[in-house]
Amino acid sequence: MKTETIDTIIVGGGLSGIYAAWLLSRSNLSCLVLEARERIGGRILCPEHQGFHPDLGPSWYWPEIHPRMACLIQSLGLEGYPQFETGQGRIQRADGTARTVRTGPMAPQSWRLSGGMQALLTALAEGLPAGAVRCGHPVCEIEKTPYGVQVSVGELEKAPLARFTARRVILALPPRLAAGSILFTPELSHPLTQAMLKTGTWMAGQAKFSALYEKPFWREMGLSGQAFSERGPAGEVHDGSSRNGGPYGLTGFLGIPAAQRRTGDRLNEAILAQLAVLFGSEAARPMAFFYQDWAQERFTATMYDQPPMYAHPRYGAPAGKTSIWDAAVHFAGTETAPMSGGYLEGALEAAERAAAAALG
Ligand SMILES: Cc1cc2nc3c(=O)[nH]c(=O)nc-3n(C[C@H](O)[C@H](O)[C@H](O)COP(=O)(O)OP(=O)(O)OC[C@H]3O[C@@H](n4cnc5c(N)ncnc54)[C@H](O)[C@@H]3O)c2cc1C
Repeated sequence: MKTETIDTIIVGGGLSGIYAAWLLSRSNLSCLVLEARERIGGRILCPEHQGFHPDLGPSWYWPEIHPRMACLIQSLGLEGYPQFETGQGRIQRADGTARTVRTGPMAPQSWRLSGGMQALLTALAEGLPAGAVRCGHPVCEIEKTPYGVQVSVGELEKAPLARFTARRVILALPPRLAAGSILFTPELSHPLTQAMLKTGTWMAGQAKFSALYEKPFWREMGLSGQAFSERGPAGEVHDGSSRNGGPYGLTGFLGIPAAQRRTGDRLNEAILAQLAVLFGSEAARPMAFFYQDWAQERFTATMYDQPPMYAHPRYGAPAGKTSIWDAAVHFAGTETAPMSGGYLEGALEAAERAAAAALG
């Protein structure tokens, strides 16, 4: 097996990793993104239906408080649009009954991206040199060498599928996942390992659905598409339509904890039956239905992410370290961002810090 040598290896092709690669490439630093899945995007996932890309991961950004996202979207020539919120909301009680309520606009205003959040990934990836991203490359081991690092791809205990040497590596994946799935030699300190394992991966325990329709029948009834339920299976629903002209959508988060969710037809039927209670019988007959349980995704969630996370954690560099091993390993990924950790903005924030360090 040939060992390839690169200046900077980036582990993880989510928003943070791809943006770090984009920043480094613009400064002519050679880099290679190793992505475990067969696609880039990580928690950003947008299947296609009739040219529309519903968001099964993040759908919102908030230009008022997330300036990096607003600037990047504008500079890449992408277009956002405000979340549809016109009309009244619906509340479902634990006994299953539902009523209409007056709801105010979300503050700050949530925005969605035309083409789905994957449009941001696609635009960044188009700016990378050919061959800068290798999908299907799960990193299993990182070893310190006199010149930097050696990175192995594949499964531990098996012969590596590929091996790379580099001056440095940027870890652009959730710290909990890195600590739990990558073997570091020499081993990481006990306090750092504990800090990484205790950093909850934001939204990793969630499941999200999108039901698509030809007509926005709820809007025609004066409803915004927003609903909250004490009964479930969906705990929260929003209008998830394309910018204009359809398809129109209802999208939502499951209210059932990950350990109790049983993915399959019965769950999908229960979600549609609940949508019919909330928005009328037409809601039970979508032209397309998508569901994603993030807790079941081994390149997002670990067993520690299964219990529900009720509050937004305080994020930042694990154990206060933005890099280790004499700056041969740098931390990126949204969970290492001190200001906007957990959010898309945090993924950009952490990538900027790691790229700036790599550029010296
Ligand atoms: C359902 C849901 C809704 C959300 N809603 C919002 C929202 O509305 N607004 C918002 O701002 N944020 C939201 N978020 C959070 C947002 O998705 C994240 O902040 C952002 O996508 C994190 O990007 P990242 O690159 O840091 O991490 P990730 O997207 O997790 O990327 C990490 C990458 O590393 C890869 N990887 C993992 N292990 C390995 C390995 N061993 N070797 C190589 N690659 C590996 C993964 O496959 C993945 O591609 C939501 C998240 C979810 C799940």
